[in-house]
Amino acid sequence: MVVEIVSVGTELLMGQIVNTDAAYLARRLPEAGATLYHQVTVGDNPERLKEALLTALSRSDVVITSGGLGPTKDDLTKDAAADALGLPMELNPEAERRLRGYFETRHRPMAPNNLRQAFFARGAVLFPNPNGTAPGCVIERDGKAVIHLPGPPREFVPMVESSVLPYLAARLGGVIRSRYLRMFGIGESDAETLLSDLMDAPNPTLAPYCSLGEVQFRLSARARTVDEAESLLNPLEEAVRARAGEFIYARTDIPDDTMARIAARRLIKSGKTIALAESLTGGLLAASLVAQSGVSSVLEEAVVSYANSSKMRRLGVSGESLRKYGAVSEQVAREMAEGIRGTAGVDIGISTTGIAGPDGATPVKPVGLVYAALSAAGHTEVKRLELKGHRDDIRQLACLHATKLLLNELGGSYGG
Ligand code: ATP
Repeated sequence: MVVEIVSVGTELLMGQIVNTDAAYLARRLPEAGATLYHQVTVGDNPERLKEALLTALSRSDVVITSGGLGPTKDDLTKDAAADALGLPMELNPEAERRLRGYFETRHRPMAPNNLRQAFFARGAVLFPNPNGTAPGCVIERDGKAVIHLPGPPREFVPMVESSVLPYLAARLGGVIRSRYLRMFGIGESDAETLLSDLMDAPNPTLAPYCSLGEVQFRLSARARTVDEAESLLNPLEEAVRARAGEFIYARTDIPDDTMARIAARRLIKSGKTIALAESLTGGLLAASLVAQSGVSSVLEEAVVSYANSSKMRRLGVSGESLRKYGAVSEQVAREMAEGIRGTAGVDIGISTTGIAGPDGATPVKPVGLVYAALSAAGHTEVKRLELKGHRDDIRQLACLHATKLLLNELGGSYGG
């Protein structure tokens, strides 16, 4: 099955935006069993777009377009493809209903040109777009297929995962399944060295993705049935766990999950309540947990406590500890976590205190010195960290370490 990517947009053509959509899709296609020979970028011009599509159709089985699905007159992709395929454009009642619903729930009038987004070539099958107004679709004709996806990556990427890869696998008479193992406490190159031979296999595949402080491995398998795919994935997961199990804190089916959302979900499941006392993280920890819906059932409060006076008044940190050890110290981190746990009346109290820099270091307390503490019934754990990076990196990393304390407290390394 030969696939061609046609990226549509004058901004892309002229280099004003980088074509991350095509790069992402190109990396994912082999896993769906597809072969890629050509990628084309074309501006918002109907004749050149039609020409690019006809050329792509002449040499490929499936043509996947990105961009140009919006409501404005330079959004031409669907019309050009219908023209190239010799099909009329029709109003799709399901797409119209969803579009009107989108505007109604936002109490916004729908400008007439928006209705363009509900027109598709005859016979198109819609791909839902949970993150935007323009659905994608697939149009099949004479054994070939054209797939349209919206341009914005936050719409494009999830639709590749939820609609395009399953569609391509199904065309070959199969399915594609993915799961993700998230690791903390190991760097990208160490993780890759540990697992490099497992990353060479064509099916199932193992691919790393790194973000600040974390490494995620995606395990994908293509097979005839879901069960077969899962049974290809199981031994691969076991092999990864055998080598790197100590770093794995979660397995999840969600491609863009976060440690904080995973911790929040486990917290919700546990029913334990929590409160936060944040100094250097300044509310980041709370914001990362609040990204998970439903957290209101367990999160009591989050206090940003910066000044010493606030640490004493709000959290009950002792003046003596502050004088003797300083605000960035194991003792104060401990008292902050215990203090917020007590005053909020919750099961778990978490605190952060540290020097995010670039100023504020002393001869004994360097930039990046951070303490994260967790207090629960019968014990308080304090972690001393020497973090590297810029101010924002240090604050983000402090959040991850504090969240990891929470995960350790909640236990378990399987469910996301
Ligand atoms: P919209 O409904 O938002 O207009 P669309 O499907 O019409 O979506 P475009 O108008 O072509 O998409 O692009 C919208 C934005 O999406 C671009 O300004 C750009 O920021 C981003 N984008 C588009 N194509 C790509 C791409 N191939 N790679 C990365 N970003 C892209």
